[in-house]
Amino acid sequence: MRLYRSQKLMRPDLQAHVYSGALLGNMRKLKGLCPDGTKMCAVVKANAYGHGIEETVNILKEAEVDFFAVSSVYEAIHISTLVKKQKIFILEAINEFMAPDLIDFCGKRDFHCTISSLEAIKHAAIVLSGSNHVVNLHVNIETGMGRCGVDGEYAEKLIEKIDACENTRLAGVYTHFATADEEDLSYAYEQLANFQEFLDKTKIRQRKDVIVHAANSAATIKIPEAHFDMVRCGISLYGYYSRPMADAPVDLEPVVKLQAPIIRLKKIPKGHAVSYGCSFVTKRDTVIGIIPHGYADGYWRAFSNNAKMIVAGKVVDVVGRVCMDQVLIDVTDVKNVSVGQMATIIDNDRESACSAYALADIAGTICYEILICIHAHVTKIVH
Ligand SMILES: *Cc1c(COP(=O)(O)O)cnc(C)c1O
Repeated sequence: MRLYRSQKLMRPDLQAHVYSGALLGNMRKLKGLCPDGTKMCAVVKANAYGHGIEETVNILKEAEVDFFAVSSVYEAIHISTLVKKQKIFILEAINEFMAPDLIDFCGKRDFHCTISSLEAIKHAAIVLSGSNHVVNLHVNIETGMGRCGVDGEYAEKLIEKIDACENTRLAGVYTHFATADEEDLSYAYEQLANFQEFLDKTKIRQRKDVIVHAANSAATIKIPEAHFDMVRCGISLYGYYSRPMADAPVDLEPVVKLQAPIIRLKKIPKGHAVSYGCSFVTKRDTVIGIIPHGYADGYWRAFSNNAKMIVAGKVVDVVGRVCMDQVLIDVTDVKNVSVGQMATIIDNDRESACSAYALADIAGTICYEILICIHAHVTKIVH
């Protein structure tokens, strides 16, 4: 392993294996659910759900992806030199406080931006006036999510204003579902009806250069009527359904496997306490493996005495409290266990004892939050 020195701390010993075949396969399977010509927007916000935004973009940029969606203009700038063929779509709306050079950059680099106020449109128009830059704007319609969308009537005013300004262009109209991953889709269908009503009233679909989009992963998979011109897939690209899903119409493949080495083996006699708080006491003579991956690295403290890892194909228990930089596993039953051997912390198999689903269950959260906790300093190894 070469000596690694850089401005940014990296940990070559903590390894996230990113399987490009799985990522590309998932993308194609999701696209396969949609009518031909439906655009694919790959959601790569939050460091590509923990998978590494540069690595993920580099894999997907050669594929049939039309847009990359990010949360903020800062993430957009971060990947803008990597992306040539695709457009970058920023989910967070431009506002009237946004620094002029950022808005100028959005115009210059042809970013697609969300807009949700007249003040912000005016601000963008003033910043860009006199330049030959035109900023692409998407209006997010409130249909039931109750977050960033704007009401239909106000949206019509925004569209009028965008059409009237020389340096702004209406590039998209969209909405976002609150419950597309639930068993009961009635609320999602109500949202869809509200969205459709807006589209009909404004005859937006007659404007061929305006992209209409609504579906996140769950809606892409379960609500074909929501595909419109483009789908925005995040979690499903990474091989997970928003929540475990029986009879899924596509068989997605988890993209990431997180591993760290056993850095020390320690024999502990029966009846001995292990780690902070003495929350675990050995019931037999035990061989403990020390893994240098604690809650500072994104391994939840809630996994203490609860989670599993896999060493040499064998499922082993996490014992005692998770520490800041370390966690202990019981490797007594692993034959020929040795220092340097890799332990799998998050497996790339949804059924595994340490899948993102299994860990999410223990932590009382969703698989998104488990994946996103893969720390930026973990080395991404692309296969
Ligand atoms: C995050 C996000 C998505 C992607 O959601 P997934 O459930 O991960 O597919 C799509 N659209 C918007 C507006 C989002 O914020």
